[in-house]
Order: sequence, then structure tokens, then C-alpha cells
Amino acid sequence: MSAYINKILEDLKKSCIGQEVFIQAATEVLSSLEPLLNSDKKYEKHAILERITIPERVVSFRVTYVDDNGKPRVNNGYRVQFNSAIGPYKGGLRFHPSVNLGVLKFLGFEQIFKNSLTGVSMGGGKGGSDFDPKGKSDNEIMRFCQNFMSELYRHIGNTTDVPAGDIGVGGREIGYLFGQYKKITGLYDGILTGKGLNWGGSLARTQATGYGSVYFINNMLKKAGLGLEGKKCAVSGSGNVAIYTVEKLKQLGATAITVSDSNGFVYDPDGIDVALLKELKEIKRARLSEYVKSKPNAKYTPSTEYKAGTNGVWSVPCDGAFPSATQNELNLEDIKTLYANGCRFVCEGANMPSTLEAIDFMLAQKDFYFAPAKAANAGGVATSGLEMMQNAGMTSWSFDEVDTKLQGIMKHIFELSYETSKEFGQEGNIVLGSNIAGFRKVADAMIDQGYL
Ligand code: GLU
Repeated sequence: MSAYINKILEDLKKSCIGQEVFIQAATEVLSSLEPLLNSDKKYEKHAILERITIPERVVSFRVTYVDDNGKPRVNNGYRVQFNSAIGPYKGGLRFHPSVNLGVLKFLGFEQIFKNSLTGVSMGGGKGGSDFDPKGKSDNEIMRFCQNFMSELYRHIGNTTDVPAGDIGVGGREIGYLFGQYKKITGLYDGILTGKGLNWGGSLARTQATGYGSVYFINNMLKKAGLGLEGKKCAVSGSGNVAIYTVEKLKQLGATAITVSDSNGFVYDPDGIDVALLKELKEIKRARLSEYVKSKPNAKYTPSTEYKAGTNGVWSVPCDGAFPSATQNELNLEDIKTLYANGCRFVCEGANMPSTLEAIDFMLAQKDFYFAPAKAANAGGVATSGLEMMQNAGMTSWSFDEVDTKLQGIMKHIFELSYETSKEFGQEGNIVLGSNIAGFRKVADAMIDQGYL
């Protein structure tokens, strides 16, 4: 690693105590920028790494709400406005007990480069709370969202910062957040994406992250003369990304044979039943263990039975894996097991699901295709960009129109990343290609706009 990159990472380790996942994300991006930074010294001259690794602004606030028993409950709320060089801050809100500043900085940092790759003008941001939606009533969720927005509203706007969903924030939460924004400000602005279809949302936004990641790997496999047809795929997670990954895999002739949640995973040799999965997760908000009740051939394995230090879902033999749950859910031991069992591609639907060691292992295999999150899961935020365009034009496009644009964007991201990997002498290394391509656009904009 070059002295410049090394120094930045060492400084970050000192200034970001306890923010391990942010350091991990920064290490992954910065270490792959070396060929670019060596070939053009302007990035060092203009202190780009020093600047791009510090958020432009972090807002932190208290969220208090009253639970169904009349008891006051208190959580931390945040918005990390990381970089606005190429557009308004854009990125989701995550409600999960694991949320803290380090997690949101990692997500916001990733978002900068992911959004840049989409070709839509969007900067990077992320927000959320350590609020745990699990087991909360609908009214508790509503009161929490209203109180969260009572603080957040003063920091967002359709040309300043446009949040969306992420883990724990779906259509229901976006509705409550939007309602409160409108009540406080009186504005019917497109300040959130992922809105309901009757009130400003975009068709295909719900499907976009999962569909987009399957489109991405399809482009990548095609380039190598391969295809998804007939492939057995292990998918982790059972939220929005996983559901629509399973659905699109089926449409393209592949079969998803697993899904998971934090309590365990389901293996269905007949292929995951998407309709059943949607009913359980989107309508009943049930645990995944319910799946096997109506599918006698399927097997549920609770996480208590996983081999220590591994994620059980990756022990199932498959041709390709789609980690679509959360960060660091696929480690070195997991990828070695997958590889030994015949898996030859990984497509990241979640943000940073693979550890640095797992990524190194994948990149070292000649017969392996690795589609990193920043490129592969950019379809969600890209379609958020399409939602913003429709809102700005006071129009709405058909499902096919949006889906066609999404396919075009995923193809563009793949080609841009591939061409960039070639430009820097590492053809096919999409980690390097996507990081350099995403970074270069933002860094050049920062140089154009002066020292801010
Ligand atoms: N949370 C999603 C992501 O990680 C979507 C963000 C958005 O649509 O703004 O990219």
C-alpha cells in the first residue's frame, strides 16, 4: 500500500476509535485506489483522501416516543451527510439495534461511490437509529417515525438530502416519516424515496435492489461466456433485497434454494417459493421458521446449530451465492466452504456482506466471479434517483419503463467498472474497477469545486 493511503488509514484508526466497520469500508476502498493515485498525483495534491473520509456533516439527535404501555422510550437518531460533490446527499435510513455512528459512517461512505456509479447526480449519505422495530406494534412504529422526523425534517430537502429505506425501514415507515414531514413543513416535496405508489413513489422501486443485483451478475457472467440459466443459488436474508433477488433469479431460469433471517435459514430443494416468502415477510411479518410449515420438503436450521464462527446458509452447496442480509455475514471460512462445494460466483445484495479476508480469497481465484456491493446493489438507489426524476417532472413512468432504465443502469455500471479494471491492468477485478470509477468522478468534482 502506498505511503499516502497508509497514512490516511492510520490517521483514521486514531480518530475513529470504535468505528471498526467504517475503517473496514475505508480500507477496502482506499487500498484499491492505489493504481489511480499513483498514476495521477493531483488527488494527493488536493488532499482528496483526507477530505473524502470525513463526513461533511453529522447530525445526531434524541428520539423519544411513548410505547403502548405509556412508558417513555429513548433512542439515538442520526444523519450522516457524507459527500455532496456530485448531488444532494442520498441514502437510506436504517432502524436496527446495531446502528451506531460507525455503522452509519461505513454505509454513508459506501453510498458516495455507489451513487456515483449509477450515473445519476446523487451525493452520499445515510441515517438511522438504534431503535429495534422487532416486536413493536404498528402504533409504536408510527410514533417512533413521527418523532424521528420531528428532528430530521430540518436537515433534509429535495435538493439537499433525500433519505430512503434500508434495514428496518420499508414502505410503512417511509409513509409515517413522509406524513410527519408534510405536517410540520406543509410541503409536498419529494424528500424521501420508496414512497407509496399512490403518493409519489416509483413503480419497481421495491423490486429494484434485488432485481438490479441479478441483472448485474448476469452481465458479468455473460461477459465470461457463462449464464444464470440452471444455476442453483444460495441467498441470505429474507427482506426486500432477498425477496426480489429470489424472484428475479427464477425469472432468469436460475433457482434460489435458501433464504435466512437472524434466527436461522431455510433450505428448499424445490426452490424458494416467492409467493409464500412474500406472504410471510411482507404481509404477516412472520419469522422464517414458519416457511417449513407449508413446505414439507424444506428444512429449517436454527442459527444455534451453525458451526461456530460461520453462517449456516453458506454450508449449502450451490453454484452462486447472493449475500443479501447485512454486513460481514460471509467470512473467510464461509467462502472456503462455498468454494469447496462448487460455488463460483458471489453477488453482494447487502452492503459490505463479505469480510476483507473473504474478498481477498475471491479475488485470488482465477475461476471465480465476484460482484461487489457498491456496483451490484446500486439498482436500489439508482431507482430512487428515477423516483426523484419522476417527482421533479410531476409524472410517473410505467413498470416496464423503470425496469428497462434499471437494466440499462446495471449494464452501464458493469461496463464502466469492467473498462476501468482493464484501464488499470487488472481486467475483471470489479472491486478495483468500481471503486476507481466511483471515486474518480466524485474526486474530480471536489477538485473543480475548490477546498470545502
Ligand atoms: N438503502 C439503500 C442502499 O443501501 C437505498 C438507498 C436509497 O435508495 O437512497 O443503497
